[in-house]
Amino acid sequence: MGKVYLTGAGPGDMDLLTIKALKVIRNADVVVYDRLVNPEILNEAPQDAEMIYVGKADGKHTLPQDEINEVLYQKALEKENVVRLKGGDPFVFGRGGEEAKYLRDRGIDFEIIPGVTSAISVPAYAGIPVTHRGIAVSFRVVTGHEAPNKQKSQIDWNSFRYDETIVFLMGLHNLANICENLIKIGKAPDTPCAVIQEGTTNNQKVAVGTLENIVETVKKEGIGTPALIIVGQVVSLREDLKWFR
Ligand code: SAH
Repeated sequence: MGKVYLTGAGPGDMDLLTIKALKVIRNADVVVYDRLVNPEILNEAPQDAEMIYVGKADGKHTLPQDEINEVLYQKALEKENVVRLKGGDPFVFGRGGEEAKYLRDRGIDFEIIPGVTSAISVPAYAGIPVTHRGIAVSFRVVTGHEAPNKQKSQIDWNSFRYDETIVFLMGLHNLANICENLIKIGKAPDTPCAVIQEGTTNNQKVAVGTLENIVETVKKEGIGTPALIIVGQVVSLREDLKWFR
């Protein structure tokens, strides 16, 4: 029986892959990978490794999650080294926990290989630290996938602190709702906000604005997915800290 390596592929820049991830990829019999994985990383797998694309993108799945779980299980019965490669970190909105549970319930061995999450590294490549002395004492990573006007939101919108950085993943299509909601709960309309597309890659694009005008700016600059939203005073630090591209 094989083992499944639930592996983070990092945010895009191939060099942000961990050494441990690279080792298991180079030793893989099967690689099961998502849309957000940099194709250059896939080239590191052995020539004869079986490559299975399961195309997870922004909560829309090419294969439903239960089928992905089953693929991992079946491959682990067949082959020795099964690498499940996901964008960023497998346990940050990556459903890695569900896959691990499915395997554990069926007696399959697994390892978790954390990755560099986009939530921190993508802002970093835009020159935005998620915390900064005197400006932000905490940061929160929130799903932007859920429409904030949904009847029973799982997000406690009123709990956001005034000095907290908020990072929304999977939120580009909900940007207008998110900004509206943040203003509704008392965030100043001129709170700095950035939307970063394909951070850490050569296609990185950054739109900077405020809760009030970011929707317009994003439209004007033609920002597309994958993109994350970062809200808070730390965004202003980009003026001084911008370094990439
Ligand atoms: N497990 C991943 C997140 C998966 S959710 C991680 O730890 O990074 C997918 C969302 O992550 C995307 O919708 C987008 O909001 C964000 N994302 C991932 N890579 C990104 C990148 N290079 N640039 C901007 N956003 C990115």
